[in-house]
Amino acid sequence: MLKFLGRGSAFNAPHNSAYFVSGNELVLLDCSMSAFASLKEKDLSAYDRIYVLVTHTHGDHVSGIGMLVDYLFFTSKTPVTVVAPSAEVREDLKFLLSRLEGCEDSWYELTESGELDKEWLTGAVPVTHSEELKGRCFGYCLKIEGKTVIYTGDSNTLEPFGKYLESGSVLYTEVSAHKSGVHLYCEDLAGQVRDLTSRGVKVFLMHLDDEEKIKEIMKDTGAELAPLDKGEDDMEDDKKILDRIFDISDSLYKDMCMNNSKDHALLFSYLTELGKTIVDADRASFWKWDKRKGEIWTMSATGVDKIVMPDSKGLVGKALRNKTTVITNDPYSDPDFNQEIDRQTGYKTRSVLVLPVADINGDCIGALQIINKNNESGFDDGSDIKKLSLAALVCGIALESETFLEESHHDKLTGLKNRMGFYFDFGGKYKEYLLPGSGKTMSVFICDIDKFKRVNDTYGHNAGDDVLAFVAQLVESECSDTDCVYRWGGEEFVMVMRDTDLDGAAAKAERIRVKLMESDIEADGNILRCTMSFGCNLFDPEKTIEENISVADGRLYLAKEGGRNRVVKADA
Ligand code: GH3
Ligand code: MG
Ligand code: MG
Repeated sequence: MLKFLGRGSAFNAPHNSAYFVSGNELVLLDCSMSAFASLKEKDLSAYDRIYVLVTHTHGDHVSGIGMLVDYLFFTSKTPVTVVAPSAEVREDLKFLLSRLEGCEDSWYELTESGELDKEWLTGAVPVTHSEELKGRCFGYCLKIEGKTVIYTGDSNTLEPFGKYLESGSVLYTEVSAHKSGVHLYCEDLAGQVRDLTSRGVKVFLMHLDDEEKIKEIMKDTGAELAPLDKGEDDMEDDKKILDRIFDISDSLYKDMCMNNSKDHALLFSYLTELGKTIVDADRASFWKWDKRKGEIWTMSATGVDKIVMPDSKGLVGKALRNKTTVITNDPYSDPDFNQEIDRQTGYKTRSVLVLPVADINGDCIGALQIINKNNESGFDDGSDIKKLSLAALVCGIALESETFLEESHHDKLTGLKNRMGFYFDFGGKYKEYLLPGSGKTMSVFICDIDKFKRVNDTYGHNAGDDVLAFVAQLVESECSDTDCVYRWGGEEFVMVMRDTDLDGAAAKAERIRVKLMESDIEADGNILRCTMSFGCNLFDPEKTIEENISVADGRLYLAKEGGRNRVVKADA
Protein backbone atom coordinates (compact mmCIF):
# COMPACT_ATOMS: atom_id res chain seq x y z
CA MET A 1 0.00 0.00 0.00
CA LEU A 2 1.28 3.44 0.87
CA LYS A 3 4.70 4.05 2.37
CA PHE A 4 5.37 7.22 4.30
CA LEU A 5 8.40 9.46 3.88
CA GLY A 6 7.11 11.30 6.92
CA ARG A 7 4.04 11.05 9.12
CA GLY A 8 4.34 14.12 11.34
CA SER A 9 2.84 17.59 11.16
CA ALA A 10 4.34 20.82 9.89
CA PHE A 11 5.52 21.49 13.43
CA ASN A 12 7.35 18.23 14.02
CA ALA A 13 9.05 17.30 10.75
CA PRO A 14 9.21 15.11 8.76
CA HIS A 15 5.73 16.03 7.62
CA ASN A 16 3.11 13.72 6.15
CA SER A 17 4.12 12.49 2.72
CA ALA A 18 3.29 9.15 1.21
CA TYR A 19 4.05 7.32 -2.01
CA PHE A 20 3.29 4.21 -3.98
CA VAL A 21 4.69 2.77 -7.16
CA SER A 22 2.55 1.81 -10.10
CA GLY A 23 4.48 0.12 -12.91
CA ASN A 24 7.23 2.55 -13.90
CA GLU A 25 5.53 5.46 -12.26
CA LEU A 26 6.01 6.92 -8.82
CA VAL A 27 3.00 8.55 -7.20
CA LEU A 28 3.53 10.96 -4.33
CA LEU A 29 0.78 12.17 -2.05
CA ASP A 30 2.02 15.56 -0.93
CA CYS A 31 5.66 16.24 -1.42
CA SER A 32 6.50 18.22 1.65
CA MET A 33 9.83 19.88 2.03
CA SER A 34 10.81 17.74 5.01
CA ALA A 35 10.00 14.52 3.14
CA PHE A 36 12.00 15.64 0.17
CA ALA A 37 15.24 14.79 1.98
CA SER A 38 14.38 11.08 2.12
CA LEU A 39 12.91 11.20 -1.36
CA LYS A 40 16.24 12.41 -2.68
CA GLU A 41 17.87 9.15 -1.49
CA LYS A 42 15.74 7.24 -3.98
CA ASP A 43 16.81 6.74 -7.55
CA LEU A 44 14.18 8.97 -9.10
CA SER A 45 15.60 8.45 -12.58
CA ALA A 46 14.35 4.86 -12.37
CA TYR A 47 10.79 6.09 -13.06
CA ASP A 48 9.26 7.15 -16.37
CA ARG A 49 7.18 9.80 -14.68
CA ILE A 50 6.49 11.09 -11.21
CA TYR A 51 3.03 12.24 -10.12
CA VAL A 52 2.48 14.54 -7.20
CA LEU A 53 -1.06 14.63 -5.86
CA VAL A 54 -1.43 17.97 -4.11
CA THR A 55 -3.66 17.94 -1.05
CA HIS A 56 -3.17 21.50 0.10
CA THR A 57 -0.69 24.26 -0.33
CA HIS A 58 0.84 25.19 2.96
CA GLY A 59 4.26 26.68 2.24
CA ASP A 60 6.00 23.50 3.33
CA HIS A 61 4.18 21.41 0.73
CA VAL A 62 4.57 23.79 -2.17
CA SER A 63 8.29 24.07 -1.42
CA GLY A 64 8.59 20.30 -1.69
CA ILE A 65 7.05 20.33 -5.15
CA GLY A 66 9.38 23.13 -6.17
CA MET A 67 12.38 21.18 -4.90
CA LEU A 68 11.28 18.04 -6.67
CA VAL A 69 10.80 19.67 -10.06
CA ASP A 70 14.04 21.60 -9.71
CA TYR A 71 15.96 18.56 -8.55
CA LEU A 72 14.71 16.33 -11.33
CA PHE A 73 15.40 18.98 -13.88
CA PHE A 74 19.03 19.16 -12.86
CA THR A 75 19.61 15.47 -12.30
CA SER A 76 17.52 12.77 -13.88
CA LYS A 77 15.24 14.71 -16.26
CA THR A 78 12.31 12.59 -15.11
CA PRO A 79 9.15 14.49 -16.00
CA VAL A 80 6.71 15.43 -13.23
CA THR A 81 2.95 15.74 -13.33
CA VAL A 82 1.56 17.87 -10.55
CA VAL A 83 -2.08 17.06 -9.91
CA ALA A 84 -3.97 19.91 -8.29
CA PRO A 85 -7.77 19.69 -8.24
CA SER A 86 -8.28 23.43 -7.72
CA ALA A 87 -7.75 25.93 -10.58
CA GLU A 88 -6.69 28.50 -8.03
CA VAL A 89 -4.01 26.19 -6.63
CA ARG A 90 -2.81 25.34 -10.13
CA GLU A 91 -2.39 29.03 -10.86
CA ASP A 92 -0.38 29.51 -7.67
CA LEU A 93 1.84 26.55 -8.48
CA LYS A 94 2.31 27.72 -12.03
CA PHE A 95 3.47 31.08 -10.76
CA LEU A 96 5.76 29.48 -8.20
CA LEU A 97 7.37 27.01 -10.60
CA SER A 98 7.84 29.70 -13.24
CA ARG A 99 9.90 31.65 -10.75
CA LEU A 100 12.36 28.82 -10.17
CA GLU A 101 15.54 29.60 -11.97
CA GLY A 102 16.46 27.08 -14.67
CA CYS A 103 13.21 25.19 -14.20
CA GLU A 104 11.68 25.02 -17.64
CA ASP A 105 7.97 24.35 -17.99
CA SER A 106 8.68 21.44 -20.33
CA TRP A 107 9.81 19.51 -17.26
CA TYR A 108 6.51 19.48 -15.49
CA GLU A 109 2.83 19.65 -16.21
CA LEU A 110 0.06 20.91 -14.04
CA THR A 111 -3.18 19.12 -14.33
CA GLU A 112 -6.57 18.73 -12.80
CA SER A 113 -7.35 15.36 -11.23
CA GLY A 114 -10.42 14.85 -13.41
CA GLU A 115 -8.30 15.07 -16.55
CA LEU A 116 -5.93 12.39 -15.44
CA ASP A 117 -6.88 9.00 -16.76
CA LYS A 118 -5.13 6.66 -14.43
CA GLU A 119 -6.37 3.37 -13.08
CA TRP A 120 -5.02 4.18 -9.63
CA LEU A 121 -6.91 7.46 -9.34
CA THR A 122 -10.60 7.32 -8.59
CA GLY A 123 -10.80 11.02 -7.83
CA ALA A 124 -10.01 13.95 -5.63
CA VAL A 125 -12.28 14.55 -2.64
CA PRO A 126 -12.78 18.14 -1.41
CA VAL A 127 -12.26 18.43 2.33
CA THR A 128 -12.68 21.18 4.89
CA HIS A 129 -9.67 22.51 6.70
CA SER A 130 -9.14 26.11 7.80
CA GLU A 131 -11.36 28.94 6.60
CA GLU A 132 -8.43 30.55 4.74
CA LEU A 133 -7.88 27.40 2.68
CA LYS A 134 -11.49 27.01 1.67
CA GLY A 135 -11.82 25.28 -1.71
CA ARG A 136 -8.10 24.53 -1.82
CA CYS A 137 -7.86 21.31 0.23
CA PHE A 138 -8.37 17.79 -1.06
CA GLY A 139 -8.14 14.21 -0.11
CA TYR A 140 -7.92 11.37 -2.64
CA CYS A 141 -9.68 8.16 -3.37
CA LEU A 142 -7.28 5.69 -4.98
CA LYS A 143 -7.33 2.15 -6.29
CA ILE A 144 -4.21 0.27 -5.31
CA GLU A 145 -3.81 -3.49 -5.66
CA GLY A 146 -7.54 -3.73 -6.23
CA LYS A 147 -8.42 -1.97 -3.00
CA THR A 148 -10.10 1.33 -2.33
CA VAL A 149 -7.58 3.53 -0.59
CA ILE A 150 -8.45 6.85 1.03
CA TYR A 151 -5.89 9.51 1.80
CA THR A 152 -7.52 12.32 3.72
CA GLY A 153 -4.81 14.99 3.57
CA ASP A 154 -5.53 17.68 6.17
CA SER A 155 -9.21 17.54 7.00
CA ASN A 156 -11.31 18.30 10.03
CA THR A 157 -13.85 15.61 9.17
CA LEU A 158 -14.07 12.13 7.69
CA GLU A 159 -17.52 12.90 6.41
CA PRO A 160 -16.58 13.42 2.68
CA PHE A 161 -15.03 9.93 2.58
CA GLY A 162 -17.96 8.14 4.14
CA LYS A 163 -19.23 6.58 0.95
CA TYR A 164 -15.86 5.01 0.12
CA LEU A 165 -15.25 3.45 3.48
CA GLU A 166 -16.74 0.02 2.92
CA SER A 167 -15.33 -3.21 4.30
CA GLY A 168 -11.95 -4.07 2.79
CA SER A 169 -11.04 -0.46 2.07
CA VAL A 170 -7.99 1.22 3.53
CA LEU A 171 -8.08 4.60 5.21
CA TYR A 172 -5.05 6.79 5.80
CA THR A 173 -6.44 9.49 8.02
CA GLU A 174 -4.90 12.52 9.54
CA VAL A 175 -5.18 12.88 13.30
CA SER A 176 -4.12 15.63 15.62
CA ALA A 177 -3.40 15.65 19.34
CA HIS A 178 -4.65 19.24 19.50
CA LYS A 179 -8.21 20.46 19.33
CA SER A 180 -7.73 23.18 16.74
CA GLY A 181 -10.84 22.86 14.61
CA VAL A 182 -8.78 22.52 11.44
CA HIS A 183 -7.65 18.93 12.01
CA LEU A 184 -9.31 15.70 13.04
CA TYR A 185 -8.92 15.72 16.82
CA CYS A 186 -7.85 12.37 18.24
CA GLU A 187 -10.40 12.30 21.09
CA ASP A 188 -13.21 12.84 18.58
CA LEU A 189 -11.76 10.47 16.01
CA ALA A 190 -11.16 7.49 18.30
CA GLY A 191 -14.82 6.40 18.34
CA GLN A 192 -15.21 6.74 14.57
CA VAL A 193 -12.05 4.74 13.94
CA ARG A 194 -13.13 2.01 16.33
CA ASP A 195 -16.35 1.81 14.41
CA LEU A 196 -14.58 1.70 11.03
CA THR A 197 -12.10 -1.00 12.00
CA SER A 198 -14.91 -3.10 13.46
CA ARG A 199 -16.58 -2.86 10.06
CA GLY A 200 -13.48 -4.19 8.28
CA VAL A 201 -11.84 -0.92 7.26
CA LYS A 202 -8.10 -0.93 7.72
CA VAL A 203 -7.12 2.38 9.33
CA PHE A 204 -3.72 4.04 9.40
CA LEU A 205 -2.98 7.26 11.28
CA MET A 206 -0.85 10.08 9.92
CA HIS A 207 -0.06 13.70 10.77
CA LEU A 208 1.12 12.60 14.21
CA ASP A 209 1.82 15.92 15.87
CA ASP A 210 2.19 14.24 19.25
CA GLU A 211 2.89 10.58 18.59
CA GLU A 212 2.84 9.50 22.25
CA LYS A 213 -0.47 11.14 23.04
CA ILE A 214 -2.09 9.89 19.83
CA LYS A 215 -0.87 6.35 20.46
CA GLU A 216 -2.36 6.46 23.93
CA ILE A 217 -5.74 7.84 22.85
CA MET A 218 -6.03 5.58 19.81
CA LYS A 219 -4.68 2.43 21.40
CA ASP A 220 -7.92 0.44 21.46
CA THR A 221 -9.26 1.57 18.12
CA GLY A 222 -7.60 -1.06 15.93
CA ALA A 223 -5.76 1.65 13.98
CA GLU A 224 -2.07 1.50 13.22
CA LEU A 225 0.47 4.25 12.69
CA ALA A 226 1.15 4.95 9.02
CA PRO A 227 4.11 2.77 7.96
CA LEU A 228 7.31 4.69 7.46
CA ASP A 229 9.29 4.11 4.30
CA LYS A 230 12.11 2.89 6.41
CA GLY A 231 10.24 0.13 8.21
CA GLU A 232 10.20 -0.02 11.98
CA ASP A 233 12.26 -3.20 11.86
CA ASP A 234 14.94 -1.54 9.74
CA MET A 235 14.96 1.34 12.17
CA GLU A 236 15.40 -1.10 15.04
CA ASP A 237 18.36 -2.71 13.27
CA ASP A 238 19.90 0.66 12.52
CA LYS A 239 19.41 1.72 16.08
CA LYS A 240 21.06 -1.45 17.35
CA ILE A 241 24.05 -0.87 15.07
CA LEU A 242 24.26 2.74 16.20
CA ASP A 243 24.16 1.61 19.82
CA ARG A 244 27.02 -0.80 19.17
CA ILE A 245 29.00 1.92 17.42
CA PHE A 246 28.49 4.26 20.37
CA ASP A 247 29.46 1.49 22.82
CA ILE A 248 32.73 0.90 20.98
CA SER A 249 33.58 4.59 20.70
CA ASP A 250 32.74 5.01 24.38
CA SER A 251 35.13 2.18 25.37
CA LEU A 252 37.75 3.52 23.02
CA TYR A 253 37.48 6.98 24.50
CA LYS A 254 37.59 5.72 28.06
CA ASP A 255 40.53 3.39 27.47
CA MET A 256 42.51 6.03 25.64
CA CYS A 257 41.75 8.94 27.94
CA MET A 258 40.59 7.72 31.32
CA ASN A 259 42.65 4.57 31.71
CA ASN A 260 45.76 6.12 30.28
CA SER A 261 46.28 3.47 27.66
CA LYS A 262 49.64 3.77 25.99
CA ASP A 263 49.09 1.00 23.55
CA HIS A 264 48.22 1.55 19.92
CA ALA A 265 47.35 -2.14 19.56
CA LEU A 266 44.27 -1.48 21.67
CA LEU A 267 43.32 1.46 19.49
CA PHE A 268 43.59 -0.63 16.33
CA SER A 269 41.55 -3.44 17.80
CA TYR A 270 38.77 -0.96 18.68
CA LEU A 271 38.94 0.70 15.27
CA THR A 272 38.71 -2.57 13.38
CA GLU A 273 35.83 -3.62 15.62
CA LEU A 274 34.20 -0.30 14.83
CA GLY A 275 34.71 -0.76 11.08
CA LYS A 276 33.22 -4.25 11.22
CA THR A 277 30.20 -2.97 13.14
CA ILE A 278 29.59 0.07 10.97
CA VAL A 279 29.18 -1.99 7.80
CA ASP A 280 27.75 -5.02 9.57
CA ALA A 281 30.43 -7.51 8.55
CA ASP A 282 31.95 -10.62 10.05
CA ARG A 283 35.65 -9.83 10.33
CA ALA A 284 38.01 -6.89 10.19
CA SER A 285 41.76 -6.45 10.36
CA PHE A 286 44.19 -3.61 10.11
CA TRP A 287 47.34 -4.12 8.03
CA LYS A 288 50.52 -2.12 8.34
CA TRP A 289 52.78 -1.70 5.36
CA ASP A 290 56.52 -2.11 5.82
CA LYS A 291 57.63 -0.72 2.47
CA ARG A 292 61.31 -1.26 3.24
CA LYS A 293 60.79 -4.98 3.68
CA GLY A 294 58.07 -5.20 1.03
CA GLU A 295 55.75 -6.73 3.63
CA ILE A 296 52.33 -6.16 5.10
CA TRP A 297 51.58 -7.38 8.57
CA THR A 298 48.75 -7.50 11.06
CA MET A 299 48.17 -8.78 14.55
CA SER A 300 45.82 -11.72 14.80
CA ALA A 301 42.52 -11.22 16.57
CA THR A 302 44.05 -12.54 19.78
CA GLY A 303 46.80 -9.92 19.51
CA VAL A 304 49.50 -12.54 19.97
CA ASP A 305 50.56 -13.73 16.56
CA LYS A 306 51.88 -11.41 13.94
CA ILE A 307 50.79 -12.40 10.44
CA VAL A 308 53.23 -11.28 7.77
CA MET A 309 52.63 -11.39 4.01
CA PRO A 310 54.53 -10.09 1.01
CA ASP A 311 53.02 -6.83 -0.26
CA SER A 312 53.06 -8.14 -3.81
CA LYS A 313 50.15 -10.48 -3.08
CA GLY A 314 46.53 -10.45 -2.02
CA LEU A 315 43.82 -7.85 -2.05
CA VAL A 316 45.44 -5.72 0.67
CA GLY A 317 48.67 -5.63 -1.35
CA LYS A 318 46.69 -4.66 -4.42
CA ALA A 319 44.90 -1.84 -2.60
CA LEU A 320 48.18 -0.50 -1.23
CA ARG A 321 50.19 -0.76 -4.43
CA ASN A 322 47.47 0.84 -6.53
CA LYS A 323 46.33 3.20 -3.77
CA THR A 324 42.71 2.30 -4.47
CA THR A 325 39.81 0.83 -2.61
CA VAL A 326 39.31 -2.82 -3.49
CA ILE A 327 35.93 -4.54 -3.35
CA THR A 328 35.37 -8.16 -4.30
CA ASN A 329 32.00 -9.79 -3.86
CA ASP A 330 33.12 -12.96 -5.61
CA PRO A 331 36.61 -13.44 -4.18
CA TYR A 332 37.22 -16.97 -5.44
CA SER A 333 37.15 -15.76 -9.01
CA ASP A 334 39.42 -12.80 -8.24
CA PRO A 335 43.04 -13.69 -9.17
CA ASP A 336 44.36 -11.32 -6.48
CA PHE A 337 42.49 -13.06 -3.67
CA ASN A 338 44.69 -15.32 -1.59
CA GLN A 339 42.65 -18.48 -1.00
CA GLU A 340 45.32 -20.08 1.13
CA ILE A 341 43.98 -18.90 4.50
CA ASP A 342 40.45 -20.14 3.69
CA ARG A 343 41.90 -23.45 2.58
CA GLN A 344 43.82 -23.82 5.84
CA THR A 345 41.08 -22.66 8.17
CA GLY A 346 37.91 -23.77 6.39
CA TYR A 347 36.56 -20.22 6.50
CA LYS A 348 34.52 -19.16 3.48
CA THR A 349 35.19 -15.63 2.31
CA ARG A 350 32.21 -14.23 0.41
CA SER A 351 33.02 -10.54 0.18
CA VAL A 352 36.03 -8.35 0.87
CA LEU A 353 36.48 -4.61 1.15
CA VAL A 354 39.93 -3.04 1.53
CA LEU A 355 40.37 0.65 2.25
CA PRO A 356 43.94 1.96 2.04
CA VAL A 357 44.90 4.52 4.68
CA ALA A 358 47.45 7.25 4.23
CA ASP A 359 49.66 9.46 6.37
CA ILE A 360 49.58 13.24 6.34
CA ASN A 361 51.67 13.28 3.14
CA GLY A 362 49.08 11.15 1.38
CA ASP A 363 51.42 8.14 1.28
CA CYS A 364 49.77 4.78 1.86
CA ILE A 365 50.90 3.31 5.16
CA GLY A 366 48.31 0.64 5.86
CA ALA A 367 44.90 -0.74 5.01
CA LEU A 368 41.64 -1.57 6.73
CA GLN A 369 40.24 -4.87 5.52
CA ILE A 370 36.64 -5.94 6.17
CA ILE A 371 35.42 -9.43 5.33
CA ASN A 372 31.98 -10.95 4.73
CA LYS A 373 29.26 -8.37 4.85
CA ASN A 374 26.19 -9.85 6.48
CA ASN A 375 24.03 -9.83 3.38
CA GLU A 376 23.65 -11.62 0.07
CA SER A 377 24.97 -9.00 -2.28
CA GLY A 378 28.21 -8.03 -0.52
CA PHE A 379 29.86 -4.64 -0.13
CA ASP A 380 28.65 -1.54 -1.85
CA ASP A 381 31.30 0.72 -3.35
CA GLY A 382 29.33 3.81 -2.41
CA SER A 383 27.69 3.58 0.95
CA ASP A 384 30.06 1.11 2.65
CA ILE A 385 33.15 3.11 1.73
CA LYS A 386 31.45 6.27 2.92
CA LYS A 387 30.53 4.64 6.22
CA LEU A 388 34.06 3.33 6.79
CA SER A 389 35.91 6.44 5.77
CA LEU A 390 36.11 7.94 9.24
CA ALA A 391 37.36 4.71 10.85
CA ALA A 392 39.98 4.41 8.07
CA LEU A 393 41.04 8.00 8.55
CA VAL A 394 41.49 7.52 12.30
CA CYS A 395 43.46 4.30 11.60
CA GLY A 396 45.79 6.33 9.37
CA ILE A 397 46.33 8.99 12.03
CA ALA A 398 46.81 6.33 14.73
CA LEU A 399 49.32 4.41 12.62
CA GLU A 400 51.24 7.56 11.83
CA SER A 401 51.37 8.54 15.48
CA GLU A 402 52.42 4.99 16.41
CA THR A 403 55.23 5.19 13.87
CA PHE A 404 56.37 8.59 15.20
CA LEU A 405 56.26 7.30 18.75
CA GLU A 406 58.23 4.19 17.80
CA GLU A 407 60.84 6.27 16.03
CA SER A 408 61.14 8.74 18.88
CA HIS A 409 61.81 5.83 21.24
CA HIS A 410 64.58 4.37 19.12
CA ASP A 411 68.10 5.33 18.30
CA LYS A 412 68.89 5.37 14.60
CA LEU A 413 72.56 4.30 14.81
CA THR A 414 72.19 1.22 16.99
CA GLY A 415 68.51 0.44 16.53
CA LEU A 416 68.21 0.15 20.32
CA LYS A 417 65.61 1.94 22.37
CA ASN A 418 66.79 5.31 23.64
CA ARG A 419 66.27 7.12 26.91
CA MET A 420 62.73 8.13 25.90
CA GLY A 421 61.98 4.48 25.26
CA PHE A 422 63.43 3.69 28.68
CA TYR A 423 61.09 6.07 30.49
CA PHE A 424 58.16 4.95 28.36
CA ASP A 425 58.77 1.34 29.44
CA PHE A 426 58.86 2.41 33.06
CA GLY A 427 55.35 3.77 32.58
CA GLY A 428 54.33 0.45 31.02
CA LYS A 429 55.92 -2.95 31.28
CA TYR A 430 58.04 -2.19 34.40
CA LYS A 431 55.23 -0.44 36.24
CA GLU A 432 54.39 -3.34 38.53
CA TYR A 433 58.08 -3.73 39.48
CA LEU A 434 58.08 -0.20 40.82
CA LEU A 435 55.36 -0.84 43.39
CA PRO A 436 56.87 -1.08 46.87
CA GLY A 437 56.01 -4.42 48.42
CA SER A 438 55.23 -6.04 45.07
CA GLY A 439 57.75 -8.77 45.87
CA LYS A 440 59.12 -8.50 42.35
CA THR A 441 62.81 -8.40 41.59
CA MET A 442 64.44 -6.33 38.89
CA SER A 443 68.08 -5.40 38.27
CA VAL A 444 69.88 -2.95 36.04
CA PHE A 445 73.40 -2.37 34.87
CA ILE A 446 74.88 0.60 33.15
CA CYS A 447 77.96 0.05 30.98
CA ASP A 448 80.32 2.36 29.15
CA ILE A 449 82.91 1.62 26.48
CA ASP A 450 86.40 2.14 27.78
CA LYS A 451 88.55 4.84 26.23
CA PHE A 452 86.14 5.18 23.40
CA LYS A 453 87.33 8.67 22.58
CA ARG A 454 90.54 7.08 21.42
CA VAL A 455 88.68 5.01 18.81
CA ASN A 456 87.27 8.17 17.31
CA ASP A 457 90.56 9.94 17.54
CA THR A 458 92.54 7.11 16.01
CA TYR A 459 90.21 5.63 13.41
CA GLY A 460 87.72 8.39 12.83
CA HIS A 461 84.10 8.94 13.70
CA ASN A 462 82.76 6.39 11.20
CA ALA A 463 84.82 3.68 12.83
CA GLY A 464 83.48 4.86 16.21
CA ASP A 465 79.95 4.49 14.87
CA ASP A 466 80.67 0.95 13.68
CA VAL A 467 82.00 0.03 17.11
CA LEU A 468 78.90 1.46 18.78
CA ALA A 469 76.64 -0.55 16.46
CA PHE A 470 78.68 -3.71 17.10
CA VAL A 471 78.61 -3.32 20.87
CA ALA A 472 74.88 -2.59 20.81
CA GLN A 473 74.22 -5.75 18.86
CA LEU A 474 76.41 -7.82 21.15
CA VAL A 475 74.65 -6.57 24.28
CA GLU A 476 71.25 -7.08 22.69
CA SER A 477 72.13 -10.62 21.67
CA GLU A 478 72.48 -11.41 25.39
CA CYS A 479 68.98 -10.14 26.21
CA SER A 480 66.38 -12.68 27.27
CA ASP A 481 62.66 -12.07 26.76
CA THR A 482 62.52 -10.30 30.11
CA ASP A 483 65.58 -8.10 29.47
CA CYS A 484 65.82 -4.92 27.48
CA VAL A 485 68.80 -2.79 26.58
CA TYR A 486 68.74 0.96 25.96
CA ARG A 487 71.27 3.38 24.50
CA TRP A 488 71.58 5.65 27.49
CA GLY A 489 73.85 8.23 25.90
CA GLY A 490 76.98 8.41 23.69
CA GLU A 491 78.76 5.10 24.40
CA GLU A 492 76.73 4.16 27.45
CA PHE A 493 74.05 1.47 27.60
CA VAL A 494 71.57 0.47 30.28
CA MET A 495 70.18 -3.04 30.57
CA VAL A 496 66.99 -3.66 32.59
CA MET A 497 66.49 -7.27 33.67
CA ARG A 498 63.11 -8.27 35.08
CA ASP A 499 62.92 -11.15 37.57
CA THR A 500 66.69 -11.05 37.96
CA ASP A 501 68.64 -10.47 41.18
CA LEU A 502 71.93 -8.62 41.57
CA ASP A 503 74.10 -11.70 41.08
CA GLY A 504 72.18 -12.65 37.96
CA ALA A 505 72.67 -9.16 36.56
CA ALA A 506 76.38 -9.18 37.37
CA ALA A 507 76.79 -12.60 35.78
CA LYS A 508 75.15 -11.38 32.61
CA ALA A 509 77.36 -8.27 32.61
CA GLU A 510 80.42 -10.45 33.08
CA ARG A 511 79.43 -12.65 30.13
CA ILE A 512 79.07 -9.61 27.92
CA ARG A 513 82.33 -8.11 29.16
CA VAL A 514 84.27 -11.24 28.28
CA LYS A 515 82.56 -11.65 24.95
CA LEU A 516 83.33 -8.08 23.95
CA MET A 517 86.88 -8.25 25.14
CA GLU A 518 87.43 -11.28 22.90
CA SER A 519 85.68 -9.85 19.85
CA ASP A 520 87.39 -8.58 16.76
CA ILE A 521 85.39 -5.59 15.61
CA GLU A 522 85.33 -4.51 12.04
CA ALA A 523 85.18 -0.72 12.06
CA ASP A 524 85.43 1.29 8.87
CA GLY A 525 87.96 -1.08 7.35
CA ASN A 526 89.92 -1.64 10.58
CA ILE A 527 89.88 -4.59 12.93
CA LEU A 528 89.93 -3.46 16.53
CA ARG A 529 89.14 -4.57 20.01
CA CYS A 530 87.62 -2.75 22.91
CA THR A 531 86.44 -3.31 26.44
CA MET A 532 83.60 -2.11 28.60
CA SER A 533 83.02 -1.36 32.30
CA PHE A 534 79.82 -2.16 34.18
CA GLY A 535 78.00 -0.93 37.29
CA CYS A 536 75.15 -3.16 38.54
CA ASN A 537 72.26 -2.46 40.91
CA LEU A 538 69.28 -4.33 42.31
CA PHE A 539 66.31 -2.10 41.64
CA ASP A 540 64.93 -0.57 44.83
CA PRO A 541 61.23 0.33 44.40
CA GLU A 542 61.43 2.70 47.36
CA LYS A 543 63.78 4.89 45.33
CA THR A 544 63.13 6.81 42.13
CA ILE A 545 64.26 5.53 38.76
CA GLU A 546 66.96 8.22 38.69
CA GLU A 547 68.23 7.27 42.14
CA ASN A 548 68.45 3.63 41.09
CA ILE A 549 70.39 4.46 37.92
CA SER A 550 72.61 6.76 39.92
CA VAL A 551 73.56 3.87 42.26
CA ALA A 552 74.53 1.79 39.20
CA ASP A 553 76.37 4.78 37.77
CA GLY A 554 78.38 5.13 40.99
CA ARG A 555 79.50 1.51 40.61
CA LEU A 556 80.38 2.08 36.96
CA TYR A 557 82.58 4.91 38.16
CA LEU A 558 84.22 2.50 40.62
CA ALA A 559 84.82 0.07 37.73
CA LYS A 560 86.50 2.81 35.73
CA GLU A 561 88.53 3.87 38.74
CA GLY A 562 89.48 0.29 39.41
CA GLY A 563 91.14 -0.03 36.00
CA ARG A 564 88.19 -0.46 33.59
CA ASN A 565 87.09 -3.69 31.79
CA ARG A 566 85.31 -4.95 34.88
CA VAL A 567 81.94 -5.44 36.56
CA VAL A 568 81.14 -3.82 39.91
CA LYS A 569 78.04 -4.74 41.87
CA ALA A 570 78.68 -3.15 45.24
CA ASP A 571 79.54 0.24 46.63
CA ALA A 572 83.05 0.76 47.91
P1 GH3 B 1 86.16 6.26 29.57
O1 GH3 B 1 86.83 4.96 29.52
O2 GH3 B 1 86.45 7.04 30.78
O3 GH3 B 1 84.70 6.09 29.37
O4 GH3 B 1 86.70 7.08 28.35
P2 GH3 B 1 85.98 7.54 27.05
O5 GH3 B 1 86.95 8.04 26.10
O6 GH3 B 1 85.14 6.40 26.58
O7 GH3 B 1 85.04 8.67 27.57
P3 GH3 B 1 84.69 10.11 27.07
O8 GH3 B 1 83.41 10.46 27.77
O9 GH3 B 1 85.85 11.01 27.30
O10 GH3 B 1 84.45 9.98 25.54
C1 GH3 B 1 83.31 9.43 24.99
C2 GH3 B 1 83.35 9.69 23.52
O11 GH3 B 1 82.29 9.06 22.82
C3 GH3 B 1 83.25 11.14 23.18
C4 GH3 B 1 82.28 11.21 22.01
O12 GH3 B 1 82.78 11.92 20.90
C5 GH3 B 1 82.08 9.78 21.64
N1 GH3 B 1 80.77 9.56 21.12
C6 GH3 B 1 79.59 9.77 21.73
N2 GH3 B 1 78.56 9.46 20.89
C7 GH3 B 1 79.13 9.01 19.72
C8 GH3 B 1 78.61 8.55 18.50
O13 GH3 B 1 77.40 8.44 18.27
N3 GH3 B 1 79.47 8.19 17.52
C9 GH3 B 1 80.80 8.29 17.71
N4 GH3 B 1 81.60 7.92 16.72
N5 GH3 B 1 81.31 8.74 18.86
C10 GH3 B 1 80.53 9.09 19.86
MG1 MG C 1 83.68 5.65 27.80
MG1 MG D 1 80.91 7.88 28.71
